[in-house]
Amino acid sequence: MGKTTGFLEYERMEGDVRTEEERIKDFYEFHENLPLEEQKKQAARCMDCGIPFCQAGMMISGMASGCPLHNLVPETNDLVYRGKMEEAYQRLSMTHSFPEFTGRVCPALCEAACTCGLNDEAVCTKENERTIIEYAFENGYVKEEAPQVRTDKKVAVIGSGPSGLAAAQLLNRRGHEVTVYERHDRVGGLLRYGIPNMKLDKSVIDRRVRLMEKAGVKFVVNTDVGKDISAEELTKQYDSIILACGASKPRDIQAPGREAMGIRFAVDFLGEVTKELLDSNFKKLPTKGVKGKKVIVVGGGDTGNDCVGTCIRLGAKKVTQLEMMPQPPKERFASNPWPEWPRVLKTDYGQEEAIYKFGDDPRVYCTTIKEFIKDEKGVLKGVVTVSLDKQIDKKTGRLNMVPIEGSEKKVPADLVLIAAGFLGSEKYVTDSFGVDLDPRTNVKTGLGSYHTSKDKVYVAGDMHRGQSLVVWAIAEGREVAKEVDRDLIGYTNL
Ligand SMILES: Cc1cc2nc3c(=O)[nH]c(=O)nc-3n(C[C@H](O)[C@H](O)[C@H](O)COP(=O)(O)OP(=O)(O)OC[C@H]3O[C@@H](n4cnc5c(N)ncnc54)[C@H](O)[C@@H]3O)c2cc1C
Ligand code: SF4
Repeated sequence: MGKTTGFLEYERMEGDVRTEEERIKDFYEFHENLPLEEQKKQAARCMDCGIPFCQAGMMISGMASGCPLHNLVPETNDLVYRGKMEEAYQRLSMTHSFPEFTGRVCPALCEAACTCGLNDEAVCTKENERTIIEYAFENGYVKEEAPQVRTDKKVAVIGSGPSGLAAAQLLNRRGHEVTVYERHDRVGGLLRYGIPNMKLDKSVIDRRVRLMEKAGVKFVVNTDVGKDISAEELTKQYDSIILACGASKPRDIQAPGREAMGIRFAVDFLGEVTKELLDSNFKKLPTKGVKGKKVIVVGGGDTGNDCVGTCIRLGAKKVTQLEMMPQPPKERFASNPWPEWPRVLKTDYGQEEAIYKFGDDPRVYCTTIKEFIKDEKGVLKGVVTVSLDKQIDKKTGRLNMVPIEGSEKKVPADLVLIAAGFLGSEKYVTDSFGVDLDPRTNVKTGLGSYHTSKDKVYVAGDMHRGQSLVVWAIAEGREVAKEVDRDLIGYTNL
């Protein structure tokens, strides 16, 4: 719970961030931890509220409120406040597999639901989490021991994102022989080739993967299941198979001229930039045709923001971010009360950097692309944008954004990055395993279960729930591991 009067004595304080001027020169992380003594004061702000929504992870008005992993937030805050860092790490590890990932990239659902945040600023739970895990690594508390006894059960995990890694970690601890298959050249899923390095340094993934390898988890990279190795072959070799392949099918923009050269999907682009950085050991700044160019990012969400930050680092002349929906309010509406997730305007790091570099917010709301303009060689030269208006469908009550006639504008562009969301799992994988899908092309399971329509085939993470968050992927990875273990052994103690 922290210190009873801590929230009255101490103001919320976060670690320093490097200035925009400095950080846009490289791809390194820019967020620093507070000194430990200061972090203890931040943990002391946790106020024994008695209703820790922060750890509830429940759905309110269709949105998750509190931590989906049910991290024991008041307890870990109390241990940090008292300087019992090893115990804090142990308490955190009871519910969490990889706090070093969420401590960097989680939107902190816990903080949005923090009681302190009702009248004042929320407790810095995410930074406390990061401090705990980094302290634990520095002091040698983080170990991954090989299990003392092996069962004779073999499990294949397809996909090495956070859900696959979380499932593999727990099942290996239980003594099952776990092999993780990954189609890319490096392990990590979107932690590796989606989220840019400045948000999550890739050495943080390597540090964890090394521990898991030492404890006996096998990683097979450059192997695309469904293409390089068939579903039948895996089904013969393994007792259980977990599909953790993500929801990587991108939503496209259907507009005339779409075939022009210079239009990319955001994740392909971001992944290539990270791969070039890693391949050159950060010695070479990738160019990717961005230097001195005008870039339009379609999509106002987190992926779009990552594209803005990346393009600025690659020397773009101008970056504009188009968003179909209207600008969110600065403060919560009365219809969106605490502890619901606040649907308010957030200015993320990429947008801050654009404001610093170009003088204005890159986001243009209620706007989409109507047409792509190309030259005679088929190279993108610009786009025609159109403004959109809100309309409620009388039959379904759904909100539609409809084009406003006559609002078209020609905007020059050399590169368009499409970050307009994802449409679920990829067909070749689900076809090869023959699993049933729901109407949103996520893999279907029974309520509260991770078992697919096929015998001994399970699913977790974005492939199950649709494009989501790292914390949800880890939560699902842990839950699928329990179900697989129970089905293999008859009970589970995970
Ligand atoms: C650009 C971007 C930024 C994001 N930023 C954040 C953020 O800041 N915070 C946050 O919480 N979430 C963020 N997310 C969302 C988050 O990354 C995902 O929700 C999470 O990674 C999903 O984990 P997963 O394990 O289900 O799938 P993924 O991370 O997508 O991993 C799936 C893996 O499966 C592999 N795979 C797929 N098919 C096969 C096959 N047939 N054979 C072998 N391997 C296969 C893929 O190559 C991939 O490595 C972001 C997403 C994107 C795209
Ligand atoms: S994982 Fe995310 S939601 Fe859960 S406690 Fe950590 S920062 Fe908060």
